[in-house]
Amino acid sequence: MKKILITGGAGFIGSHLCKKLLNEGNYVICLDNFFTGKRRNIEHLLSNPNFELFEHDITEPLNINIDEIYNMACPASPPHYQYDPIKTMKTSVFGIINMLELAQKNNAKILQASTSEVYGDPKIHPQIESYWGNVNPIGIRSCYDEGKRCAETLIMDYHRQKNIDTKIIRIFNTYGPNMAPDDGRVVSNFIIQALKEEDITIYGDGTQTRSFCYVDDLVDGIIKMMKSDLTGPVNLGNPSERTILDFAKLILELTGSKSKIVYKPLPSDDPTKRQPDITLAKTKLNWEPKVDIKDGLKYTVEYFKALL
Ligand code: NAD
Ligand code: UDP
Repeated sequence: MKKILITGGAGFIGSHLCKKLLNEGNYVICLDNFFTGKRRNIEHLLSNPNFELFEHDITEPLNINIDEIYNMACPASPPHYQYDPIKTMKTSVFGIINMLELAQKNNAKILQASTSEVYGDPKIHPQIESYWGNVNPIGIRSCYDEGKRCAETLIMDYHRQKNIDTKIIRIFNTYGPNMAPDDGRVVSNFIIQALKEEDITIYGDGTQTRSFCYVDDLVDGIIKMMKSDLTGPVNLGNPSERTILDFAKLILELTGSKSKIVYKPLPSDDPTKRQPDITLAKTKLNWEPKVDIKDGLKYTVEYFKALL
């Protein structure tokens, strides 16, 4: 039985990872400071003798025995990571140093949840891992983008200098049950607005694009990456790209809502387009997303309906 540490385990993606790795027969330690994570996401796992919940902040050092680390801890939605940008940067930078030191002490494998945000407002489309990105180092998204870029640098330096078995995945927009309703991201906002028959708030003119991946697909890819001999970075996301306006219309169609679409100012540095090139994940991990967006959104709408 492997002893696995999942930081940010009470968050959206982390909670799905906890469940899946427990079901695969591992001992799972879920670590979280509950900044954006919710106890209800992991409540059903607490009675499992192979599950442990540990309230801790990864900006502080940690000394426990583990075989693998999935470093998922970091607020991921723009309103959350911009709430305390200095703390966000510390979570990415001090956090990954603490986790890499822990990996070294334990001779453990470590996987980092990086992001498509390292590509910034991309000049290459779709985004491929070899693209270095177009990131504003001093804007309101920089605490997140540059924090994640710095974490990638530290991971590769620990890998080269200290021989640590490291893995980087770059996650593209992911959605599904356990997203926080107050998260502020487009999927949760639009679904909740539609369910409450409130206005659907499009930022800008809605021509910007995103590519949405269902969480079960993503979690399969994350675990495949950990089991592989790759270091990465490897993109994980669903290449099916759509405009935010089309996405709003799809939510209206699936919920049968009478909400009106309204337009609000576009936040600065909002990327104009985003689509993963997943050739590497397809060929080296034998992974590609399977869940159709309409099915994935149906499960997500059901989750938010129950929550409301
Ligand atoms: P989330 O906000 O739901 O989860 C993050 C979790 O980390 C929360 O439980 C939070 O309480 C915890 N956390 C934050 N700072 C911490 C700290 N200093 N110490 C301990 N715990 C801390 O976000 P998510 O969508 O589940 O994202 C998980 C990871 O995946 C993040 O690292 C994020 O950057 C990355 N990611 C997510 C997406 C996406 O679309 N969801 C896209 C790209 C990358
Ligand atoms: N967005 C929007 N309305 C909302 C929330 C977000 O139009 O209520 C837009 C946002 O400006 C961005 C896209 O939807 O262009 C995706 O935003 P999200 O915060 O989900 O993710 P990210 O920008 O980090 O990809």
